[in-house]
Amino acid sequence: MPAKLLLFLVFVNVALVKGQTCIDTIETSIGKILVFSNQTWRLYDENKFDGVMNKRVHQFMTEKQQFKFNLNWNNNSYLSGARNDLGQMKDSVWVHLNGGESSEYFPPVSGIVTSTYKFRNGRQHTGMDLDLETGDTVYAAWSGKVRYAKYNEGGYGNLVVLRHPNSFETYYGHLSKFLVYPNQEVVAGEPIALGGNTGHSFGSHLHFEVRFYDATMNPEEIINFQTKKLKNDSVLVHSGLFRAGAKPSDHYYSGNKEVDNSTEDKGEVIKINPKPVVRASQAKYYQVRSGDTLSSIARKHGTTISQLCQLNKIKTSTTLQIGKSLRVK
Ligand SMILES: [Zn+2]
Repeated sequence: MPAKLLLFLVFVNVALVKGQTCIDTIETSIGKILVFSNQTWRLYDENKFDGVMNKRVHQFMTEKQQFKFNLNWNNNSYLSGARNDLGQMKDSVWVHLNGGESSEYFPPVSGIVTSTYKFRNGRQHTGMDLDLETGDTVYAAWSGKVRYAKYNEGGYGNLVVLRHPNSFETYYGHLSKFLVYPNQEVVAGEPIALGGNTGHSFGSHLHFEVRFYDATMNPEEIINFQTKKLKNDSVLVHSGLFRAGAKPSDHYYSGNKEVDNSTEDKGEVIKINPKPVVRASQAKYYQVRSGDTLSSIARKHGTTISQLCQLNKIKTSTTLQIGKSLRVK
């Protein structure tokens, strides 16, 4: 693209975001990121992203069966809005959960299970409840991209939804504070929020869901919550996974007031380079506090400014945002 045209497009984008000035642009594997003066940021060409993070799986879901299963990229609804009924899946597909198309798994919180995926008070409980204290850090279970991070009227309270490169999504409900933005990339084990008691919740806990093409499944099919490890490195995705306890259509569209504003229009497909697999156990994060500078953080963690910039895809001139996590290792 000619530099003049690019510059023009950047300025058009700036004009659209009222009262904010674009102070930096960063190239990442998923495209250009615009950084604004109020320390928020967003992906430059997000409207072109069709939400497909795994072409192999998506090809299987859309071509190899009687039905077409959609996977929209929707920042405004907790569901992608595709209205798939996975009970209709005719075929099955192996999907990596550890290695391959996936990062390693990282337990989202360390607390014990207080409720499982089951019928509860005449309704399907669509995830696992994990114990925590309000303010405890909640971590990304796998590397991926933030699809949704906002207050949900349907009961989840403050909710983060991550989409992962293997096409699974994970849901983190009842949070007290967000540490990530929609469309942000995260790595497994990165702090994404602080736990809480928002929404339909009586007592602080994390409501954790695993979904595939919008359909919920029992997280215990793939995760051992006692040992906090995966049961297997991969899972055979088939219609039976989504039938445990209830038909998906019985529970995954109920009780939510959000409007489905997604469209069938897929737009232009952008190429996503596979993210390097990060071993969560090696990655370390630090929450930026008032008065911190890149050099003080680097000194504190025995690293260098240029290493910090490289790890976090930022420039030395980037303004640090208080409360935001920086990867230091
Ligand atoms: Zn729950």
